[in-house]
Amino acid sequence: MTTGWPGWRRRLYEVAGLRPATIVMYHSINPQTGLRPDCISPDTFARQLSLIRERYRLVRLRDLRRAMNDGDPRRPVAITFDDALGDFWEYGYPVLKGLDVPATMFVPTAWIGIPNVMTAAQITTLHVDGLVEIGAHTVTHASMRSLDPAAMWREAIESRRALEALLGSPVRLFAYPFGQRHHFSRASGRVLARAGYELAVTSCWGTLQPVDRPLELRRIDFKDGDAESTLAAKIEGRYDWRIAVEAAGLVARALRLRAA
Ligand SMILES: [Zn+2]
Repeated sequence: MTTGWPGWRRRLYEVAGLRPATIVMYHSINPQTGLRPDCISPDTFARQLSLIRERYRLVRLRDLRRAMNDGDPRRPVAITFDDALGDFWEYGYPVLKGLDVPATMFVPTAWIGIPNVMTAAQITTLHVDGLVEIGAHTVTHASMRSLDPAAMWREAIESRRALEALLGSPVRLFAYPFGQRHHFSRASGRVLARAGYELAVTSCWGTLQPVDRPLELRRIDFKDGDAESTLAAKIEGRYDWRIAVEAAGLVARALRLRAA
Protein backbone atom coordinates (compact mmCIF):
# COMPACT_ATOMS: atom_id res chain seq x y z
CA MET A 1 0.00 0.00 0.00
CA THR A 2 1.60 3.28 -1.04
CA THR A 3 -1.17 5.73 -0.18
CA GLY A 4 -2.61 6.95 3.10
CA TRP A 5 -1.00 6.92 6.50
CA PRO A 6 1.46 4.02 6.07
CA GLY A 7 2.37 5.53 2.69
CA TRP A 8 3.70 8.83 4.01
CA ARG A 9 5.49 7.10 6.85
CA ARG A 10 7.19 4.89 4.29
CA ARG A 11 8.31 7.95 2.34
CA LEU A 12 9.75 9.49 5.52
CA TYR A 13 11.75 6.31 5.95
CA GLU A 14 13.08 6.50 2.43
CA VAL A 15 14.17 10.09 2.98
CA ALA A 16 15.96 9.00 6.16
CA GLY A 17 17.74 6.19 4.28
CA LEU A 18 16.06 3.50 6.37
CA ARG A 19 14.61 0.24 5.11
CA PRO A 20 11.35 -0.87 6.70
CA ALA A 21 11.64 -3.93 8.90
CA THR A 22 9.15 -6.49 10.13
CA ILE A 23 8.86 -8.25 13.48
CA VAL A 24 6.72 -11.39 13.55
CA MET A 25 4.94 -12.46 16.75
CA TYR A 26 4.24 -16.10 17.51
CA HIS A 27 2.82 -17.81 20.59
CA SER A 28 1.98 -21.49 20.15
CA ILE A 29 3.49 -24.01 17.72
CA ASN A 30 1.43 -27.19 17.96
CA PRO A 31 0.07 -29.85 15.59
CA GLN A 32 -3.31 -29.38 17.30
CA THR A 33 -3.95 -25.98 15.79
CA GLY A 34 -7.49 -25.85 17.18
CA LEU A 35 -6.13 -25.39 20.72
CA ARG A 36 -5.73 -21.61 20.36
CA PRO A 37 -6.62 -19.13 17.64
CA ASP A 38 -2.97 -18.08 17.29
CA CYS A 39 -1.63 -21.64 17.07
CA ILE A 40 0.54 -22.60 14.08
CA SER A 41 1.37 -26.19 13.17
CA PRO A 42 5.06 -27.16 13.07
CA ASP A 43 4.86 -27.85 9.31
CA THR A 44 3.28 -24.47 8.62
CA PHE A 45 5.85 -22.79 10.86
CA ALA A 46 8.69 -24.39 8.88
CA ARG A 47 7.10 -23.28 5.58
CA GLN A 48 6.63 -19.73 6.86
CA LEU A 49 10.27 -19.48 7.96
CA SER A 50 11.50 -20.94 4.67
CA LEU A 51 9.49 -18.38 2.72
CA ILE A 52 10.85 -15.54 4.84
CA ARG A 53 14.40 -16.79 4.34
CA GLU A 54 13.93 -17.07 0.57
CA ARG A 55 12.55 -13.58 0.00
CA TYR A 56 13.86 -11.49 2.90
CA ARG A 57 16.53 -11.93 5.56
CA LEU A 58 16.09 -13.23 9.06
CA VAL A 59 17.86 -11.17 11.71
CA ARG A 60 17.93 -11.07 15.47
CA LEU A 61 15.61 -8.57 17.10
CA ARG A 62 18.54 -6.77 18.70
CA ASP A 63 20.15 -6.35 15.23
CA LEU A 64 17.01 -5.00 13.57
CA ARG A 65 17.81 -1.30 13.77
CA ARG A 66 21.30 -1.81 12.36
CA ALA A 67 19.86 -3.98 9.58
CA MET A 68 17.45 -1.18 8.62
CA ASN A 69 20.42 1.02 7.84
CA ASP A 70 23.12 -1.29 6.44
CA GLY A 71 22.47 -0.91 2.73
CA ASP A 72 21.29 -4.51 2.20
CA PRO A 73 18.17 -4.20 0.02
CA ARG A 74 16.47 -7.26 1.51
CA ARG A 75 13.93 -6.48 4.21
CA PRO A 76 15.07 -7.58 7.69
CA VAL A 77 12.57 -9.79 9.53
CA ALA A 78 12.86 -10.77 13.21
CA ILE A 79 11.02 -13.73 14.75
CA THR A 80 9.63 -13.40 18.29
CA PHE A 81 7.69 -15.64 20.66
CA ASP A 82 5.69 -14.65 23.74
CA ASP A 83 4.86 -16.63 26.90
CA ALA A 84 7.52 -19.42 26.86
CA LEU A 85 4.92 -22.09 26.13
CA GLY A 86 5.89 -25.73 26.48
CA ASP A 87 4.94 -26.46 22.89
CA PHE A 88 7.66 -24.07 21.72
CA TRP A 89 10.18 -26.39 23.32
CA GLU A 90 8.51 -29.48 21.88
CA TYR A 91 7.65 -28.29 18.36
CA GLY A 92 8.88 -24.75 17.70
CA TYR A 93 12.49 -24.92 18.78
CA PRO A 94 13.31 -28.06 16.72
CA VAL A 95 12.09 -26.20 13.59
CA LEU A 96 14.20 -23.12 14.40
CA LYS A 97 17.22 -25.35 14.99
CA GLY A 98 16.66 -27.35 11.83
CA LEU A 99 16.55 -24.17 9.74
CA ASP A 100 19.12 -22.31 11.89
CA VAL A 101 16.76 -19.35 12.36
CA PRO A 102 17.37 -17.00 15.31
CA ALA A 103 14.45 -15.86 17.45
CA THR A 104 13.59 -14.11 20.69
CA MET A 105 11.49 -15.66 23.47
CA PHE A 106 9.70 -13.39 25.96
CA VAL A 107 9.21 -15.07 29.33
CA PRO A 108 6.78 -14.10 32.14
CA THR A 109 9.05 -15.14 34.99
CA ALA A 110 6.34 -16.24 37.46
CA TRP A 111 5.09 -18.70 34.83
CA ILE A 112 8.36 -20.62 34.52
CA GLY A 113 7.74 -24.31 35.21
CA ILE A 114 3.93 -24.18 35.53
CA PRO A 115 1.97 -26.62 33.32
CA ASN A 116 2.32 -25.92 29.57
CA VAL A 117 5.15 -23.43 30.14
CA MET A 118 8.86 -24.17 29.71
CA THR A 119 10.98 -25.08 32.73
CA ALA A 120 13.95 -23.08 33.97
CA ALA A 121 16.26 -25.78 32.59
CA GLN A 122 14.70 -25.54 29.11
CA ILE A 123 14.95 -21.74 29.06
CA THR A 124 18.57 -21.98 30.16
CA THR A 125 19.26 -24.48 27.38
CA LEU A 126 17.83 -22.05 24.80
CA HIS A 127 20.15 -19.36 26.10
CA VAL A 128 23.21 -21.63 26.15
CA ASP A 129 22.52 -22.94 22.62
CA GLY A 130 22.54 -19.29 21.51
CA LEU A 131 19.91 -19.37 18.76
CA VAL A 132 17.09 -17.99 20.91
CA GLU A 133 17.60 -14.80 22.88
CA ILE A 134 15.57 -14.51 26.10
CA GLY A 135 13.62 -11.34 26.87
CA ALA A 136 11.32 -10.35 29.72
CA HIS A 137 7.52 -10.35 29.60
CA THR A 138 6.91 -9.00 33.14
CA VAL A 139 6.72 -11.25 36.22
CA THR A 140 2.99 -12.01 36.30
CA HIS A 141 1.99 -11.27 32.68
CA ALA A 142 0.48 -7.96 33.80
CA SER A 143 -0.97 -5.24 31.62
CA MET A 144 1.62 -2.53 32.37
CA ARG A 145 -0.65 0.44 31.82
CA SER A 146 -3.11 -0.71 34.50
CA LEU A 147 -0.45 -0.68 37.23
CA ASP A 148 0.57 2.06 39.63
CA PRO A 149 4.19 3.26 39.20
CA ALA A 150 5.59 1.05 41.98
CA ALA A 151 3.96 -2.12 40.62
CA MET A 152 5.02 -1.21 37.08
CA TRP A 153 8.60 -0.88 38.26
CA ARG A 154 8.46 -4.24 40.08
CA GLU A 155 7.15 -6.04 36.98
CA ALA A 156 9.90 -4.50 34.86
CA ILE A 157 12.89 -4.84 37.14
CA GLU A 158 12.08 -8.12 38.90
CA SER A 159 11.48 -10.00 35.66
CA ARG A 160 14.80 -8.73 34.30
CA ARG A 161 16.67 -9.63 37.49
CA ALA A 162 15.10 -13.10 37.67
CA LEU A 163 16.12 -13.88 34.09
CA GLU A 164 19.60 -12.44 34.54
CA ALA A 165 20.04 -14.59 37.68
CA LEU A 166 18.87 -17.66 35.75
CA LEU A 167 20.95 -17.05 32.62
CA GLY A 168 23.96 -15.19 34.01
CA SER A 169 23.70 -12.67 31.14
CA PRO A 170 22.20 -9.21 30.66
CA VAL A 171 18.54 -9.06 29.57
CA ARG A 172 17.70 -5.98 27.49
CA LEU A 173 14.58 -6.98 25.53
CA PHE A 174 10.97 -6.76 26.71
CA ALA A 175 7.50 -7.55 25.37
CA TYR A 176 4.37 -5.92 26.78
CA PRO A 177 1.82 -8.57 27.88
CA PHE A 178 -1.36 -8.26 25.77
CA GLY A 179 0.50 -5.45 24.01
CA GLN A 180 -2.34 -3.42 22.56
CA ARG A 181 -2.25 0.36 22.85
CA HIS A 182 -4.26 0.39 26.09
CA HIS A 183 -1.76 -2.01 27.73
CA PHE A 184 1.25 0.34 27.65
CA SER A 185 1.94 4.07 27.85
CA ARG A 186 4.71 6.65 27.71
CA ALA A 187 4.98 6.16 31.48
CA SER A 188 5.55 2.42 31.13
CA GLY A 189 8.14 3.14 28.42
CA ARG A 190 10.01 5.43 30.82
CA VAL A 191 9.92 2.70 33.48
CA LEU A 192 11.37 0.18 31.01
CA ALA A 193 14.16 2.57 30.04
CA ARG A 194 14.98 3.15 33.71
CA ALA A 195 14.94 -0.62 34.33
CA GLY A 196 17.61 -1.06 31.65
CA TYR A 197 15.63 -2.28 28.64
CA GLU A 198 16.78 -1.23 25.18
CA LEU A 199 14.00 -2.59 22.96
CA ALA A 200 10.37 -3.44 23.70
CA VAL A 201 7.78 -4.96 21.40
CA THR A 202 4.03 -4.42 21.51
CA SER A 203 1.23 -6.39 19.86
CA CYS A 204 0.14 -3.34 17.86
CA TRP A 205 0.05 -4.15 14.18
CA GLY A 206 2.65 -2.69 11.87
CA THR A 207 5.81 -3.22 9.84
CA LEU A 208 7.25 0.30 9.74
CA GLN A 209 9.24 0.44 12.92
CA PRO A 210 9.17 3.75 14.78
CA VAL A 211 12.95 4.08 15.19
CA ASP A 212 12.47 7.06 17.45
CA ARG A 213 10.56 4.85 19.91
CA PRO A 214 12.54 1.63 20.39
CA LEU A 215 10.40 0.78 23.42
CA GLU A 216 7.17 0.66 21.36
CA LEU A 217 7.99 -1.58 18.39
CA ARG A 218 5.13 -2.95 16.32
CA ARG A 219 4.68 -6.55 15.22
CA ILE A 220 2.61 -8.58 12.79
CA ASP A 221 1.36 -12.15 13.07
CA PHE A 222 0.28 -14.96 10.81
CA LYS A 223 -2.58 -17.42 10.81
CA ASP A 224 -2.01 -21.12 10.23
CA GLY A 225 -4.06 -20.89 7.03
CA ASP A 226 -2.32 -17.81 5.54
CA ALA A 227 -1.43 -18.31 1.88
CA GLU A 228 2.08 -17.41 0.70
CA SER A 229 0.74 -14.26 -0.92
CA THR A 230 -0.84 -13.23 2.41
CA LEU A 231 2.40 -13.86 4.30
CA ALA A 232 4.31 -11.68 1.83
CA ALA A 233 1.65 -8.96 1.95
CA LYS A 234 1.75 -8.89 5.74
CA ILE A 235 5.57 -8.79 5.84
CA GLU A 236 5.78 -6.05 3.22
CA GLY A 237 3.31 -3.76 4.99
CA ARG A 238 0.30 -4.22 2.76
CA TYR A 239 -1.79 -4.99 5.85
CA ASP A 240 -0.60 -1.85 7.63
CA TRP A 241 -4.04 -0.33 7.10
CA ARG A 242 -4.68 -2.20 10.36
CA ILE A 243 -2.70 0.56 12.14
CA ALA A 244 -5.54 2.97 11.34
CA VAL A 245 -8.18 0.39 12.29
CA GLU A 246 -6.51 -0.20 15.67
CA ALA A 247 -6.22 3.57 16.24
CA ALA A 248 -9.93 3.96 15.50
CA GLY A 249 -10.67 1.12 17.93
CA LEU A 250 -8.64 2.89 20.62
CA VAL A 251 -10.58 6.11 20.12
CA ALA A 252 -13.87 4.19 20.31
CA ARG A 253 -12.69 2.47 23.50
CA ALA A 254 -11.73 5.82 25.08
CA LEU A 255 -15.13 7.27 24.20
CA ARG A 256 -16.90 4.22 25.68
CA LEU A 257 -14.88 4.51 28.90
CA ARG A 258 -15.66 8.23 29.16
CA ALA A 259 -19.37 7.58 28.64
CA ALA A 260 -19.45 4.76 31.20
ZN1 LIG B 1 2.02 -12.85 26.65
